[in-house]
Amino acid sequence: MNKIKSSKLLTKKTLKQIPEFDNHFLVLQLNNSATKLHGYIAIHRKNGSLPSFGATRLLKYPSDKEALKDALKLSKLMSYKSALAGLPYGGAKAVLIKPKGKFSREALFKSYATLLNNLKGQFITGTDVGLTVADLDSMKKDTKYLVGYFSNPEKYTALGLFFAIETTCQKIFGTKNMKGRTFAIQGVGKVGSEFLKIVYKEAKSIYISDTNKERLAYIKKLFPKVKIIDVDNIHKQKVDIYMPCALYYTLNKKSIKDFKCKIIIGSANNQLESADIADKLYDKGIFYGPDYIVNAGGLISVVDEYKNSSINNTRIKNNVKKIQKIMSEIIKNSDKENISPERIADKLAKKIINKK
Ligand code: NAD
Repeated sequence: MNKIKSSKLLTKKTLKQIPEFDNHFLVLQLNNSATKLHGYIAIHRKNGSLPSFGATRLLKYPSDKEALKDALKLSKLMSYKSALAGLPYGGAKAVLIKPKGKFSREALFKSYATLLNNLKGQFITGTDVGLTVADLDSMKKDTKYLVGYFSNPEKYTALGLFFAIETTCQKIFGTKNMKGRTFAIQGVGKVGSEFLKIVYKEAKSIYISDTNKERLAYIKKLFPKVKIIDVDNIHKQKVDIYMPCALYYTLNKKSIKDFKCKIIIGSANNQLESADIADKLYDKGIFYGPDYIVNAGGLISVVDEYKNSSINNTRIKNNVKKIQKIMSEIIKNSDKENISPERIADKLAKKIINKK
């Protein structure tokens, strides 16, 4: 590992001081001052010789420590996601800190690709927030450990959300039909917009918000009947389904007071600021679908791409549909034990991971 240029393996002694550390398999700090690459790769768990999966994000962070914490939390969540999606792989994540000022994306990603090679396939990655397929293009000459070119992960993440919502609507409203359902979507990026394609025709009303005004204008053009809501008010809408599809910790002590929805299911990772928020939502009678179950469609699709030489959309769709089975099981056990679906999912994920 010490051969890796521009990167440093963080020791357990250093990591133990961070509450988010969960005895991770490996954590690397990445640095390349020439290209302004700075960030972390965290592999939470490995299963034998199989690689661990997790997308790469490029984002501004208030501090270096926050980026490291995010990598630790997100990689753990990826292990949970993989376990509950019935996949044998461990979870991982790369968090790159968006440089201040001007930088060349191409140079940054090329230098990142070189570092990926040194992990010799232990980590397979793709596009998360802040990355597009064009960035994968910048890397593809320098590394083969990439997925998400052909399998269209955001489309399948959105489809997985749809399946999870169907199962939940069956429980809450006695029907999985989307006719007459109302939605509020926080963040209409790659996943949010793919989800719109699925429900736009049937839904009664759809509220959307995004911090990016150009993006909002673009989406409004594509889906004229959506109503744009201020970013501070999107979660306060009285709707059937509220969908956090932007960034993390939007379900928190402050926002929980405002929710008037019946269901919360969205693509963002780490939606809960802390685990007790899930209990509070449960006590309020709001169904919260654990993020690492409902947003597993993207992972399922890139794993399919990794394993197979050609894309078969029916096969991917059938695998993504399995989210309904795990959702039904979680709902059943939550009802039986009278605790939040999040607690049930957490217990089950830990049990599966510890067996690997
Ligand atoms: P994206 O970057 O394409 O979209 C995110 C959108 O949220 C952007 O348009 C951004 O402007 C907006 N946004 C940021 N902060 C906001 C705020 N406070 N209020 C409203 N809008 C805000 O990312 P994406 O690929 O669509 O992913 C969305 C979320 O889902 C991320 O948290 C990501 O980690 C998670 N996720 C994505 C996938 C996938 O397949 N892309 C899979 C699993 C999980």
